[in-house]
Amino acid sequence: MNILERYQAMDYGPAPEGRGDADAWLKARDFGKALFIGGAWKAAASGKTFDVAEPSSGKLLAKVSDAGAVDVDAAVTAARKALAAWSRKSGYERARVLYAVGRAMQRHQRLFAVLESIDNGKPIRESRDIDVPLAIRHFIHHAGWAQALDREFPDAKSAGVVGQIIPWNFPLLMLAWKIAPALAAGCTVVLKPAEFTPLTAILFAEICERAGVPKGVVNIVHGGPEAGAAIVNHADVDKIAFTGSSEVGKIIRKATAGSGKKLSLELGGKSPFMVFEDADLDSAVEGLVDGIWFNQGQVCCAGSRLLVQEGIAEAFIAKVKTRMSRLRVGAPLDKNTDIGPLVDRTQLDRVAGLVAEGAKQGAQCWQPDMALPSSGYFHLPTLATGVSPANILAQEEVFGPVLAVMTFRNTEEAIELANNTRFGLAASVWSENVNLALHVAPQLKAGVVWINGTNMFDAACGFGGYRESGFGREGGKEGMYEYLADRTAYGAAIKPAKERPAGEAEEASGIDRTAKLFIGGKQVRPDGGYSYPVLDRKGKLAGEAGLGNRKDIRDAVSAARAGKAWAEATAYNRSQVLYYLAENLSARADEFAVRIARLTGVSAKAAAAEVDRSIERLFYYAGMADKFEGRAHQPPARAVTLALHEPVGVVGIVLPDDAPLLGFVSLVAPALAMGNTVVAVPSERAPLLATDLYQVLETSDVPAGAVNIVTGRASELAGVLAMHDDVDGLWVVADADTCRLAEEHSVGNLKRVWTAKGHTLNWDAAEGEAFLRRAVEVKNVWVPYGD
Ligand code: NAD
Repeated sequence: MNILERYQAMDYGPAPEGRGDADAWLKARDFGKALFIGGAWKAAASGKTFDVAEPSSGKLLAKVSDAGAVDVDAAVTAARKALAAWSRKSGYERARVLYAVGRAMQRHQRLFAVLESIDNGKPIRESRDIDVPLAIRHFIHHAGWAQALDREFPDAKSAGVVGQIIPWNFPLLMLAWKIAPALAAGCTVVLKPAEFTPLTAILFAEICERAGVPKGVVNIVHGGPEAGAAIVNHADVDKIAFTGSSEVGKIIRKATAGSGKKLSLELGGKSPFMVFEDADLDSAVEGLVDGIWFNQGQVCCAGSRLLVQEGIAEAFIAKVKTRMSRLRVGAPLDKNTDIGPLVDRTQLDRVAGLVAEGAKQGAQCWQPDMALPSSGYFHLPTLATGVSPANILAQEEVFGPVLAVMTFRNTEEAIELANNTRFGLAASVWSENVNLALHVAPQLKAGVVWINGTNMFDAACGFGGYRESGFGREGGKEGMYEYLADRTAYGAAIKPAKERPAGEAEEASGIDRTAKLFIGGKQVRPDGGYSYPVLDRKGKLAGEAGLGNRKDIRDAVSAARAGKAWAEATAYNRSQVLYYLAENLSARADEFAVRIARLTGVSAKAAAAEVDRSIERLFYYAGMADKFEGRAHQPPARAVTLALHEPVGVVGIVLPDDAPLLGFVSLVAPALAMGNTVVAVPSERAPLLATDLYQVLETSDVPAGAVNIVTGRASELAGVLAMHDDVDGLWVVADADTCRLAEEHSVGNLKRVWTAKGHTLNWDAAEGEAFLRRAVEVKNVWVPYGD
């Protein structure tokens, strides 16, 4: 055997990481008292426990306390009790605690990593080099946010008691993503780890004890859906932060509707991994290994759809297969292992079932020829070709080591395929042409885009999705807002509208015309052919407005979706149009003031002041259109991360009866300033202020489809907007019931909903960055550098 043959015949020897310390810790612990509540270790009130098994062997690791509603209640009570003192501490004091937690974790880094691999099954290389260091970084990074809070977020107040529910795929890292920003913002928390993987959270609670986290600030309860639901439904929880499946995210969206709880959802994905023909193919193959086989593919942002340009598809797939044959599937604690077991038998069965179904639907599922360990929940890496866009493997999140391949001919087709999913979490773009990559990135419906890279994360860079991948961001400045109270200045509670005449208005004398709807830049008659009477303050008929219905909303949403000219206009261009709108409104100020006074009964002076403030507000948002910009982050990697502000998309806006002009302008202008297109339902009682605006809009160069106005019953139309899956965002200022229904009915596409919780706003103060923040999605685009 010559030296070359010897070299080729060489195989890996076993390189196991020692597990002695972890086993000793497991043996010493009383897992029957694993609930960490108010700084004490408690058994579940019911005495119940659940089994935690090791994925690589199926052997029992621990019987862990199974919390029920009583235990959750005790944890929430402890968190409430601790809140005042914790949130009153100075930022510096909180920073010291966060830093101490980070440092204490660092001292036990190896124990955390080994325990995580034992509990979850992930290869030790990943837990040791990625999960644990990143979790520590989150605490140290957020120590800085705690101290900078007063300066960076003036007047900020903590969101209060936070309920946090996390999945099993990154148990410690998800815990850090949740707890670090919450503590920095002055919140106290009740966190529930996933039932498959509670161990590192128990070790973390021990660290909290040692690092001087005050009692009750961090409470950790264990259990399954029942414990999770008890947190979600607890009346004394102010905010819910959830990471998990879209299915459960929707249940939580519904359950919290109308409760006033703040909500962030980090859900599933079906992220595209796009390889253009000018990509560095070998790098792209390595990226793909990381993109889909990292953590056995049990990653929310896994690049589970490979989109490869036709000309290189064959060569690229051949390279991928060769590389797949060299992946090492085996014991998680072996330092050579690339792919460990899935977390549980149920997960293995689910993945195998989806692969079988994908094959039935026409996919060819290829697996490398290699032996699997005799015990444990292992699944071979799988490559599915011949996948049609409708195939289950192209549509559903498999959450396993399964890659679906599709090809594209040109850039447009690549973008279309990439966006052909109900999710919107992440995307990976491979091309040596930075112009092409940066042309594609903004067109992808994804909260994170990695250029020539994948799975890059950092505490300073926001992470989170669009559409059914949820809403809210974790990490960075945008992540901090999730744990700060909404400071909107609310006004009086809104009473539900009395039953209004449903159909034809009585014949009225002296009425010149019935105001129509404004859709796609045109005045159109309502679909139903009905109008409703608009009465002045004395109860006399002042005019008629169209009674918009479901079909009118559908038309308006289509027009808004087609209003691409506005979404694609430059910020400077949008700014000019908004200034022009202000100018044209100003020219007709007197006429609008008379209308306001007549319809609402306010004095002539107050009406004139409302018009003036509306013009001023238009000026403000015109000015901000090209100033509310994103940021550039410098993460500890050879990359810059561009946190871009992008429009949410089509935004529905439902307005109350008071301040019919100022209210309209206060919500529609920030949406427009950031490039959204709008479907507005104006004041039901005084819609003529909005319909009078048609001409102003027409003369101000607002492109067709940018603003669409449907008059009618606000509560009914709010529901229609909420249920419409092509509406991306919905803002509702209406009575409490309408607000609740808007949230409840938004589950179809998980659109971002903001409501004023049954109140109107103090319109004089309804201006500022909070409104602009609601009007943007932050997309983090990672651009690497270096050879
Ligand atoms: P899951 O939704 O089944 O469970 C997540 C958590 O919710 C668990 O702690 C579970 O006990 C709890 N839960 C279940 N039903 C509940 C209910 N009715 N009310 C309250 N809590 C409930 O998800 P999973 O299978 O544990 O995790 C995998 C999912 O998580 C995948 O869809 C993945 O994409 C997603 N995920 C998303 C991100 C992200 O940042 N977007 C990160 C990691 C994982």
